[in-house]
Amino acid sequence: MVQGAANQNINSNEQWLQNYVDDWVKFYRKHTKEGEVASYIPILQEANQHHLGISIIGNNGVTIESGDVGIPFTIQSISKVFTFIVACMQRGVSYILDRVDVEPTGEAFNSIMHLEMRQVKKPFNPFVNAGAITITSMLNGKTSNEKLNPLLHLFEQILGYRPSLNEEVYESERKTSIRNRAIGYYLLELEYLESDLELTLETYFKQCSIEISINDLATLGMVLANDGEDPKTGLEIIPRQVARLAKSLMLTCGMYNASGKFAAYVGIPAKSGVSGGIVAIAPPRFREGDFPFLEGCGIGVYGPALDKQGNSIAGIRLLRHIAKQWDLSIF
Ligand code: GLU
Repeated sequence: MVQGAANQNINSNEQWLQNYVDDWVKFYRKHTKEGEVASYIPILQEANQHHLGISIIGNNGVTIESGDVGIPFTIQSISKVFTFIVACMQRGVSYILDRVDVEPTGEAFNSIMHLEMRQVKKPFNPFVNAGAITITSMLNGKTSNEKLNPLLHLFEQILGYRPSLNEEVYESERKTSIRNRAIGYYLLELEYLESDLELTLETYFKQCSIEISINDLATLGMVLANDGEDPKTGLEIIPRQVARLAKSLMLTCGMYNASGKFAAYVGIPAKSGVSGGIVAIAPPRFREGDFPFLEGCGIGVYGPALDKQGNSIAGIRLLRHIAKQWDLSIF
């Protein structure tokens, strides 16, 4: 599907790209048998383990999609990238970085131990739950809807529609939130939270329950690939400095405690969530060559069967293959 006519060379390769991606989705689908669908939020368990889909949207308008593309799913941890962006836009980068660090932890996303054991002065990074809940507490607003409005507005500017919450997932998550509550109470004791705990958690569960598609993830990724500017309109939606900072965090902390491996073997900024989504970003490359998407692209992947770290097993294999074959790595 061609959304613009900016690059005739890529247009002529489009069928080849489509066939190529179709073949590899078919090939990697067998890996959906491995791993498990997330079950700690009961409703997520209803996802179909065998789903696998990918959408790639280039800054030049070329879109390639394959596999299970029409399945809506909740954004989960991928929301943390965008609440971080919104918080930086509202409060300024230095305010946020004074209060949440940018170090990978090498531990599970919902670990409490590292906060206490290492006596840190601030949560490790915005993508572990302690950091994400702290960031959510910093969003402007007196109600969860007020806090979420700027996030939904940002999505609307990028996607052209305002995504809605999946109420069932929200309820399921809220009712089974013992660990996130424990993290919240510990953050409260450390005086990291800037809003009431209940309000913060309600907002956090809602942000995780926003429903999106892989095309949406690819579109969000494309705008980040373009340093925050919408390539279709030329409008700056996210300030360049904030978009770049978000991408550096995705590269170092975006794939749970497998972030180092993903950076080494795939080599592009990405963020995953426990519902099986991954948003990945290939920035424009100033290289010679005949690689597709030289101008950069956003990639959305969905595959709900997860490994022990919480990443989609088949999704990572597919991404790794395509990134290698198309030389998308930033290194
Ligand atoms: N709602 C999830 C939680 O905090 C987000 C998990 C994730 O996608 O990593 O438990």
